[in-house]
Amino acid sequence: MKTAIEQKIHAHFPNAETGAHITEKYLSYLSDHYQEDLKKMLFATSICADDINVSTDFRRVLTRPFTLGGLGGIPFAGFTGMVAFSHHIPDGGSGFILYGPHIGITDEGELGRMRRPGQAGLSNSCGALMLALHRLASEDDIYVPVNVEYDYQQILLERSVMPYKHDILTSENPKKAITEVTYCNIHKQLHFLIQKAKDEFRCQRLFLLGVVIINTGPEHHDYVDVRNFEVIELQKLAPIASESIMEQAAFKAL
Ligand SMILES: [Zn+2]
Repeated sequence: MKTAIEQKIHAHFPNAETGAHITEKYLSYLSDHYQEDLKKMLFATSICADDINVSTDFRRVLTRPFTLGGLGGIPFAGFTGMVAFSHHIPDGGSGFILYGPHIGITDEGELGRMRRPGQAGLSNSCGALMLALHRLASEDDIYVPVNVEYDYQQILLERSVMPYKHDILTSENPKKAITEVTYCNIHKQLHFLIQKAKDEFRCQRLFLLGVVIINTGPEHHDYVDVRNFEVIELQKLAPIASESIMEQAAFKAL
């Protein structure tokens, strides 16, 4: 029997399960199916800085998290952060990265907003993504995110969704659409960083769990929609293929 909030969540994310369930499921998968020693597994996250994102409890079992993510969940720690993570994995251990964006849901089933602990009113979640959406949708001028040092994460997050502006704004639910686009952006950027840092890893395997976190009001469970579970055999990972711009036909035709 589904609870009222679960029905509302499943209307948007039919496969979402509680964060607690997902935590148990994947921890036992790692230890039982993959025979991983969880004491030697270093945990990293590329999820939003927002304090609400404690839906899963991998920290209870796995060592720390190395925080790769910033606003929106984008891996802002970059190449340097990924190399540092790779160097910190215990001898004979493995790495595990949880990544993805988050989106709130109200008791009425509205996406993009939530009631936070200790607050009566509603606020945006993900706040950074909803701000990006608000700016994308501004009708005055075409919005161009110009970088400033004091807010560079927000600006770069906005730039990362700009190419999808039309699709986001014309979709049935732009708040969900900008979240989906950001999932893909985090997924791509993380894979790029792993590939670029691959020779720095001293372990064999890296496990990735890609999710959309669904934040609910304080009296409900948070939910997690799993999008990707992947085992990367680091030795088998191809290096990044680089093609000189001078080899491209368009360059030769300049
Ligand atoms: Zn956020």
